[in-house]
Amino acid sequence: MLNIVLFGPPGAGKGTQSEKLIAKYQLVHLSTGDIFRANIKGGTKLGNLAKSYMDKGQLVPDEITIKMLESEVNKHTSAKGFIFDGFPRTAPQAAALDKFLESKGQSIKVMLALEVPEEELKRRLLERAKISGRADDADPAVIQKRIDVYNAETAPVKDFYKAQNKCREIHGVGSIDEIFERICKEIDA
Ligand code: AMP
Repeated sequence: MLNIVLFGPPGAGKGTQSEKLIAKYQLVHLSTGDIFRANIKGGTKLGNLAKSYMDKGQLVPDEITIKMLESEVNKHTSAKGFIFDGFPRTAPQAAALDKFLESKGQSIKVMLALEVPEEELKRRLLERAKISGRADDADPAVIQKRIDVYNAETAPVKDFYKAQNKCREIHGVGSIDEIFERICKEIDA
């Protein structure tokens, strides 16, 4: 199996690059943000709970997020591999993912960290708000909060994968195809 973590701050291009990766490597794409948004749309209990955090730019608590992610993985028994997009976002999530995959005789092959300067992230998110309809993209205060949460809680996840020699930093500025090429080079290495 080919299991990949696609990592990076909000607006780094994880969703865009995931779409191209699924097509090339036939992987199952699991975006925790997308799953939460689908639950909000469906009016589920999980959706209502997640929304209260997402609207403020905060992280949904680990316990809830981990449980949801594991149940999504379990739905895809014949997957060739997974792209984890927006997960793990905290050190406990990273540890839980390793433990969960290990229990299935699986592991993460590589963690690809998209690197984009903060000003560019803000510009991209405000641009995306025009088409995404996402409230958390449209409010500069919420964008700043998401970036601050990333720096404080999510960026340290890199050290978790660096310690396993699995973290590859990717320059995330350029054309979509250029960035995709950089990513594929690391996956195929
Ligand atoms: P995203 O679509 O990845 O930008 O995520 C949107 C929002 O969903 C985040 O700001 C968080 O509130 C929530 N979220 C997504 N993934 C996670 C995660 N792994 N852990 C906690 N909260 C998450």
